[in-house]
Formats: sequence, structure tokens, C-alpha cells
Amino acid sequence: MNNSEQKIKKFDGMKPIDTRKEWKLLYYQHGRPGLEEGSKFKGICRYCELMDMCPLPKPEGGVWRCTYYRPFQKKSNLYNHVLGQLEKAKDVVPFDNDICRILTETMNEIVVHFPVKMKDGRVKVLTGYRVQHNNALGPFKGGLRFHPAVDIDEIKALATLMTWKTAITNIPFGGAKGGIQLDPADFSAEEMERISRRFAYALGNNIGPEYDIPAPDVNTNSQIMAWIQDTYMSTVAPNERNRCVHVVTGKPIESGGSQGREKATGQGVVFLIEKWANDNGMNLQGATYTVQGFGNVGSWAARLMKRQGSKLIAVEDVTGAILNKDGIDPDDLAVYVREHGGVHGYLKADPIDHVTFFSTKADIFIPAALENQITDATAELLEVKLIAEGSNGPTDPEGDKILRRRNIAVIPDILCNSGGVIVSYFEWLQNKRSEFWDLEEVDAKLKKTIVAAYDRVRDAAEKYKVDWRTAAQIVALSRLEMVYKERGIFP
Ligand code: NAD
Repeated sequence: MNNSEQKIKKFDGMKPIDTRKEWKLLYYQHGRPGLEEGSKFKGICRYCELMDMCPLPKPEGGVWRCTYYRPFQKKSNLYNHVLGQLEKAKDVVPFDNDICRILTETMNEIVVHFPVKMKDGRVKVLTGYRVQHNNALGPFKGGLRFHPAVDIDEIKALATLMTWKTAITNIPFGGAKGGIQLDPADFSAEEMERISRRFAYALGNNIGPEYDIPAPDVNTNSQIMAWIQDTYMSTVAPNERNRCVHVVTGKPIESGGSQGREKATGQGVVFLIEKWANDNGMNLQGATYTVQGFGNVGSWAARLMKRQGSKLIAVEDVTGAILNKDGIDPDDLAVYVREHGGVHGYLKADPIDHVTFFSTKADIFIPAALENQITDATAELLEVKLIAEGSNGPTDPEGDKILRRRNIAVIPDILCNSGGVIVSYFEWLQNKRSEFWDLEEVDAKLKKTIVAAYDRVRDAAEKYKVDWRTAAQIVALSRLEMVYKERGIFP
């Protein structure tokens, strides 16, 4: 069997998310730079990169693109980008070399392989990761991601971003991240419960309420946090159990979760958009915005922007993209997505392709899906004034250069999506003190904390005359450097 036969075979067993259960071909017709006017879009499939392996015939003289469900995205190495960003900050501020060397490595990388019984009686062995990047500022903190593209490099990158995020926001946590390489669509609810519990059990004391505290991320939610909490609490001595409630954050309210945690990341994004709009004379009333990703972060950001009087005009998620220049009601779309699993088929908007989505003219773009979405190809398409990065690592270095050249303002990820970890900190504090704060209190504290971080980043950008991404990195490194210098290196 040759290489391409092997690859086709590998993809044979995969199931498309597209309810039509078939390969879908998209031909893009565009007159933008880099794309041939009126011809097929040249490029590779943004999901599977099968290119020459596609079992379908190539169109005459054209290059095909498919939207096969499995999001085998082009994995430009996020970890290298994250380290490159640190180097960029070092070029501006001469941070201590030894401290930077410490911060370019992760402290612990835990890989667990664990068996889980499936509903047909077979046993599947899954691989899970927990990377603890740094805990100089406090216990390790970071989400758990369940996704087919999860691997150790991705988790290392995301753990490192968490360290910068907690440093910028002045909250007493370090940085960590974890995940399992799987597609939740392949498993039943009972299987997901067993997987989540068994993963927590396999991690054992590598997590803990005063040591490393997971939270939700892509494809995980408050229910999964409750299972992990219960599993952890069930494995400690009975008289210790209630001292472990804060082993995870992002829990359901009844299990010790905080008011406002579910919407916290989207709320933080919107507080910062509001602040940026005020500072830059943009009226949010009537302003237009587009959102990529309509899960926790994207849907909440979209719904809260509606309360500012802004108009959502285009949305893309893993099932497709939609456009309605007269406005899409994000609350109505959220109900549809909950019922149908994605935006595909939403009848109050027109289906559009990936390139049209990125080319849609709007005031604000909120990426809230996965990393490496704004690239050398897509950054040229964007016609927006502000990008508020709800997701982690949505912009790759080439895309970033283009945004700077095109003067598109960016509120960078480690600042913009920090609302989640800020309210996770509030949840942790409430659990430790046996307190329960109301929503107004949580929101007010979130706004104060995230806007203070915004001010620090803006001041650093002005002081060092750098872009906001570099400024955010400088703010984070300054705090970490100070702590390392005060404490010294043991022994
Ligand atoms: P989620 O699983 O709730 O939603 C993810 C969304 O992205 C879904 O709508 C999905 O359809 C979409 N998506 C996936 N692949 C896509 C693709 N190839 N093209 C277009 N859309 C795609 O996840 P979430 O919790 O909302 O996280 C989204 C991003 O925000 C991630 O980068 C995550 O790390 C980051 N983040 C999340 C939190 C949080 O509190 N949940 C906090 C900080 C940062």
C-alpha cells in the first residue's frame, strides 16, 4: 500500500460532522491579493490538508478544498510562537537571561495513559496530558481541553500562555493546561463521564486545590468539572473531602461554582472592547462585529455585545459559516447551536465560506475558536478595526505582522481572554472562605481587575513604543522577573 492509499484508508473510518455525511467541496471566487480573480481558491484544506489524498476527483484546472469535519488543522507550532513572543519582549527590555531560561521551559509535563470501558464492553486506552509551566506566582492554574488535535506541544504552549495571563492580571496563580486527544462526538455522555473521571484519577495528586486547579476549556464544561471534582474528593479521606471543593473551577453553581463564571471569559472580552471603544472614539451602539467560534467564549461575547447595542453580522464555527448584514440575534443563534450542535443550517442567515467569513467588513472581529486562525492568508482578508482575541493563540506570527502593517488594533489573547481565569480565582477564593458572592459583585470585581490589566498593557505599549502583544508579554515578564529576583533561586 503506498502512502496516499494508507492515508485514504486512515480517513476512511472517520465520520463527518456534516449532517449530510459527505465530502463537501468549496470553490472560492475572489479578487483579493493572493487569490486569482474568478478562479478556484488556491490553498490547502484548512482542516485535513489531504490535498492530493482526497478520494474525490480534482476539479478541472482547479484546486479543491474540502471541509471534511475532522479539524486536522494545519498545526503551525504554537509553542514556537509563544517562545518567539518571549524573545521579542526580551529584545525590547533586557530581562534577566537566567530567569528567561527558566520560563522557556515547563516545570512538569505529565502524560497519562488510562483505560476506559466503552458502552460496547471494549476497553479503550486514552492519553491525557497535564503540563505545569510555572508556579512562582501561586498554584498552577489552567483549563482542560478535549480535542482531536491535542498534543504535548499544544498543551505546553497553552500552559505557558496561562503563566503570562495570571501574571498580567496580578492574580496569585501560575500557569498550567491539560487535555485529552479525543473527539467528544465519538463518545456517549456516559462514556464521557467515565473518561473524565478516569483521567482525574490517573492525574491523582498531580492536581489539587492548593497545587494545580483545572477549569473548562475547548469541549469541556461545568459538568465535566463536577465529575472531576467528585472523583478527586472521593479519593481523599472522608474528613478531608470538603476541604477539596476548590480542586477545579468552572463548576456548576450548586457544586461550589461562582456566579458569572460561565460567561466570564466572554464578559472580560466585552469589558475590554468597551474600554478600547471608549479610548478610541468608537461608538458600540450600532457597531458591527463578527465571531469565530460559538462555544462558551464566542457565544457569550456575542450575546454581551448585543447588550452594548452592537450588531452581529457573521459567525463561523466548525460546522460552517453564516452571514446576515441586517444582523443575527446571538441569543436566538445560541439556542439553535445548543439544539443542532453548530451554526450550519441556521435559516435566519445565509451560508458563506471561510474566505467570505474572513472578508466580511465589520468594526470588530472576535476570534473565539482555536489557535492559528489569523495567518498570512486570512490576515489580508480582514476588514475590521479591532480584533479582540477571545481564543488562545488565534494569530500566528505572519498574521500578526500583517495586522500591524495594516494598522488593525489587537487586544491580545493573554489580556483579552483573561476574564475566565480571573473569575476562576474568585470562585477558588469563595470556596476557600465558604462565601458566596452575587453576580453584581463578581462582575464588578472582574471589570476592575481586567481593566487594570488593560491599563498596564496600554501603559507598557506607550512606554516602550511596541505593539500590544509585545507590551502584554513585557508586563507578564516584569512581574515574574521581580518575583524571581526577590526570592532567588533555591538553594
Ligand atoms: P468551546 O468548545 O465551548 O467552543 C469552541 C468553538 O470553536 C465551537 O463553536 C467550535 O465549533 C469552534 N471551532 C472549533 N474548531 C473550529 C474551526 N476549525 N473553525 C471554526 N470554528 C471552530 O470552547 P471555548 O471554551 O469557547 O474556547 C474557545 C477558545 O477560547 C479556546 O482557544 C480556549 O482556549 C479559549 N479560552 C477559553 C476559556 C474558557 O473559559 N472557556 C478561557 C480562556 C480562553
